[in-house]
Amino acid sequence: MLPIDPHNEMAYSFVVFGASGVLAKQKLFPALWALYRDHRLPQGFKIFTFCRSHLQTKTLRLQVLPYMDLDKSRDPKKYNLFWTNVHCVQGEYDRPEHYVALGEAMARQEAKHGQVQANRIFYLALPPVVFDQVTLNASRKCTSSSGWTRIVVEKPFGRDDVSYRAFQTSLCNSFRESQIYLMDHLLSRQVMQNFFALRYSNHLWGETLNHRHVAAVMISVKSELSVSAGRADYFNHFGIIRDLMTNHMVQVLAMLTMDQPYANTADDLRAERLKVLRQVLTPTMADVVLAQYRNNGREADPAKCGFTEHSYVPKDSFTPTFALVVLRINNRRWTGVPFILRAGQALNDTKSEVRIQYKPADCDVFHGESADARNELVLRSSPTEELFMRVRLKRHGEDLCLRESEINLRVDERRGPRGVDGYCGSLLNVIQGDQTLFMRTDEQCEIWRIFSPILSSIEFDRPRPLHYDFGSRGPLQAYRQAERAGFVFF
Ligand code: NDP
Repeated sequence: MLPIDPHNEMAYSFVVFGASGVLAKQKLFPALWALYRDHRLPQGFKIFTFCRSHLQTKTLRLQVLPYMDLDKSRDPKKYNLFWTNVHCVQGEYDRPEHYVALGEAMARQEAKHGQVQANRIFYLALPPVVFDQVTLNASRKCTSSSGWTRIVVEKPFGRDDVSYRAFQTSLCNSFRESQIYLMDHLLSRQVMQNFFALRYSNHLWGETLNHRHVAAVMISVKSELSVSAGRADYFNHFGIIRDLMTNHMVQVLAMLTMDQPYANTADDLRAERLKVLRQVLTPTMADVVLAQYRNNGREADPAKCGFTEHSYVPKDSFTPTFALVVLRINNRRWTGVPFILRAGQALNDTKSEVRIQYKPADCDVFHGESADARNELVLRSSPTEELFMRVRLKRHGEDLCLRESEINLRVDERRGPRGVDGYCGSLLNVIQGDQTLFMRTDEQCEIWRIFSPILSSIEFDRPRPLHYDFGSRGPLQAYRQAERAGFVFF
């Protein structure tokens, strides 16, 4: 990604639709502030909020303060300046005239900058029920007449293949593919981009990523937290597979497994990702383990109760809060390798990582000591970004005994500006027009092709999920399923 020239002459209007919500407060404003503080936004960059609530800059500023990475000794002056660039517009999502008012508010600020080109970014931090109204009205009433207009959409991208197609049609009727950014902040993590560098600029790793060397791959997103009250309705309706697997996790899978793109461009990468997604076989229910957390019997804390004990969840809900799905790719590179997706809430820790597990060494000079040993390449994106290789080395001393060791590839060593996370990187990509790390709409279509059969089985057959204790490692059956598929837990 090329750095943005902060002195470029253009004006930018960044509109947060749904700015009164959780995502805007906890992720977007902190990321925008971090970029502003570190001089990574162009000078003519203005932020507009649009929502039904009567939001004022003063109140918004108070509401987002707990989430801002603010150094009181260094930043206060700059922080005040940041807020002079924020303008609140109140409006209803279904009222075209309110979008006209928004367009006028943007035009006033853009004119003050005295430039010839004004660019606009619409960020939909909104629930899907209003996506259609907002995309239609925004495209008709407030796109830029002198520059470009881009739209960023947050998951969920539909609920299944049918609802996604309606969403895609509506979005593509209002905006061209080159204007659409389907957000996936996990792909913007340094560790994922480092994997790309590792794979394509090093003989060692590039040559080993195939079925001849790799035994199994596990992609995990684990959270210690229960489903929060604010997301309960959504989560109960969507479940863990739709929440995490049908977007972030499969995108990570596609980035890991795609063939070499012709060049490092958005078009080439997206084409390769789509190709490998098309080769992912549709799983059946035999490839799936579903579970739901329950009170572990030791917790007095009501926040650690079982999923169906939350006041906001129906008592008879079968919505899985944990899922394991084994996917397989039908191509020459990956045939026979299981890709195990595992995601859960209320588990023993919070961690997002990929473990690429290699086959054991095919020589045995250590008389069985290394027979079951597997190298692992681990890409961890949270809680810290790490890239390391698990290997076996000689134990220090006279005897030739083996020990487990790690080769740290240190992606975290040179962090960028303070507080940069996936959102900062993604926002910069949108400003620069780099769609490499955003899904093309046909990629998401393919993802629904993969998951829709098991999702409709879950919906119509209502299989009873297994139970696991709050704060545990998840159901034992999931571990057994992963082991049967070929993964080894150490
Ligand atoms: P919220 O539920 O907080 O909603 C955001 C805003 O949308 C609200 O403040 C409200 O603004 C408006 N809104 C809410 N419900 C309705 C409705 N039924 N009709 C019209 N307007 C409504 O959502 P989040 O901020 O948590 O998330 C926004 C989007 O991003 C969602 O699609 C979510 O799935 C997705 N997302 C969220 C993440 C998170 O961390 N929170 C992570 C990843 C994705 P007002 O009434 O003022 O107009």
